[in-house]
Formats: sequence, structure tokens, C-alpha cells
Amino acid sequence: MKKIKCYDCDLQFESETREDVLNQLYAHYMKDHNEIITGVSEEEKKIWMDKFEKDWSEAEDV
Ligand SMILES: [Zn+2]
Repeated sequence: MKKIKCYDCDLQFESETREDVLNQLYAHYMKDHNEIITGVSEEEKKIWMDKFEKDWSEAEDV
């Protein structure tokens, strides 16, 4: 189980798999940070994903 913290608030998400935590984050962004997810460019999405991939790979198993 790994934990990822939301980049825009203090909520944390945990999951066994990258796909599942991405789904949780995406649903959370749609609900609580809608203006962020709808206002970003493709380049910014790529930066976000790169950051997420790095954080996920470095997150400690808990
Ligand atoms: Zn958040």
C-alpha cells in the first residue's frame, strides 16, 4: 500500500496500484479542484503526470 498526497490540498490517497490511486486522484480533482483540471494545458498535464509517476515510484510501501 502506497500513499500519495493531493498536490492542491492535504487529502491523502492510498492504494496497492498506480491505476487505482490515479482514479481516486482524478475523481477528487474533478470534484474538489475542477478549475485546476479543466484549466490546464496538455503540457501542464504532462508535467503533473511526470510528477505523479516520480512520487508514486518513490512512495514508501506502508
Ligand atoms: Zn485535493
